[in-house]
Amino acid sequence: SFILPDILASRAQLAPGRVAMEHADGSLRVSYADLDERSGRLAALLRESGIAVGDRVAILCRNRIEFFELLFACARLGAIAVPLNWRMPAAELAPLMNHCGARLLIHGAEDAAAARTLETADIRLLDLDEPGPDGLAARRDRLPPVDGDGTWPSDRTWYLLYTSGTTGQPKAVIQTFGMALANYVNISQAMGLRGEDTTLCFLPLFHTGGINLTALPMLILGGRVLTTPGFDVERTVELLDAGELDTFFGVPAVYQAIALHPRFGELDLTRVRCWGCGGAPLPDELFRQFAARGVTVLNGMGMTETGPTVFLMDAANAARKVGSVGKPQVLSRVRLAGPGGRDAAPGETGEVWFSGPGITPGYFADEEATAAALTADGWLRSGDLGRRDEEGYFYIVGRLKDMYISGGENVYPAEIENQLAEHPDVLEAAVTGVADERWGEVGCAYVLARPGQTLSGPDELRAWLRERLAAYKVPRYFVSLDDFPRTAAGKVRKHLLPAPPVEARL
Ligand code: ATP
Ligand code: MG
Repeated sequence: SFILPDILASRAQLAPGRVAMEHADGSLRVSYADLDERSGRLAALLRESGIAVGDRVAILCRNRIEFFELLFACARLGAIAVPLNWRMPAAELAPLMNHCGARLLIHGAEDAAAARTLETADIRLLDLDEPGPDGLAARRDRLPPVDGDGTWPSDRTWYLLYTSGTTGQPKAVIQTFGMALANYVNISQAMGLRGEDTTLCFLPLFHTGGINLTALPMLILGGRVLTTPGFDVERTVELLDAGELDTFFGVPAVYQAIALHPRFGELDLTRVRCWGCGGAPLPDELFRQFAARGVTVLNGMGMTETGPTVFLMDAANAARKVGSVGKPQVLSRVRLAGPGGRDAAPGETGEVWFSGPGITPGYFADEEATAAALTADGWLRSGDLGRRDEEGYFYIVGRLKDMYISGGENVYPAEIENQLAEHPDVLEAAVTGVADERWGEVGCAYVLARPGQTLSGPDELRAWLRERLAAYKVPRYFVSLDDFPRTAAGKVRKHLLPAPPVEARL
């Protein structure tokens, strides 16, 4: 373990007057000196509220500057911030509050009603937007800033982040100072971030993307972070077109929404120097739609457990390696665990394992899940399958949990979903395995039509796939839906898809 300086205080000394963060609607703008001071005062308020080293402080709010003030306030006190998912109903939040053991819940006005349902004798609330002399802002501004002792031990827990819950219950991933630093090195190198850049922070702050792919690395670097409360396609398109942003990081659902925007074909996208995408497979078709507009979308792969940045494609090779997530970044170690535990050879599929300073030490208060995910010698089993080509470029084949076996052959749904998305009538597809008497399992494809298109029926899609894939990969069943059950980042929660048609079961 090593000690980091107080990153925010250092930044404030280097360039106090520089704009650090700004709400895109103009409602608040803070310099590095402001951010440092406001965080220090908030730390004082937390301390006055009884928060000390190791205590958890839950937060339920949309993207806004105060979230980061809280994050840095917790850093000063050695407290642990726990961002909560405001899309969850109280029934889902209560067990998370219980699990993390937070006794203080800070929330914004929009989430006041949800917060109140979580209030108990042991859990107190603080409303970021409460006006008047007793409100948080007034109380904060009356207190002298707490500087902390200026030390951030690299192995100390800074915040907890719940995983997306794509495959089941979200798990609380421990995020340390050391992980934040490793992630900063990886993402800033991979995307070529610069201190004079402006980026947009709109991905939700209760998942790793919002904090770690845009805001935190940019603040460490001394850049400018614009925030919108959430993803708003109109606002995003406006900011892109106005030439406000130098770098951009989104998830595939965000790129899809931009590509479907009526003005997509005429937007000026030339100011943005680097476009990153991760969190879920980037369909080849979507990559090409942006390429046709002169934009090279860099596909990257990481997990909440990895800080998250591990893989990001390089711009020079992106068009030549469509579908690849690139190579492991500088502070990442990756291995592909093949059959029998030996390393998979190039072209062979194996489970992707990670180690290095960006990897979590484990799940908070969950020894069982930690022991299942981390090996004794410090490797994280990702649960994802991947392969590497002769040049060292990685491809994510899909999740182990999603793979099914049809007639003895392994089938990776992501490959079929990618081919279905190539069909002109298909916007997006999700494929799952269904029990079958004869083949063990067969595929069931759930399909969304492109706006304005109608799907002409399973025969057409079956024939489309048959020309592109081996017969055992072509799903037996096709189900047309209006939308998928999704996570906040737009990932498909396959276990919540409707049961396949009756005849699809045994
Ligand atoms: P949970 O662990 O709760 O089921 P989750 O795994 O979706 O949810 P995250 O940590 O947000 O939670 O996502 C990490 C996962 O997202 C990876 O393990 C991988 O399966 C998937 N993923 C991320 N980037 C990519 C990508 N570029 N291509 C394919 N899959 C990706
Ligand atoms: Mg996961």
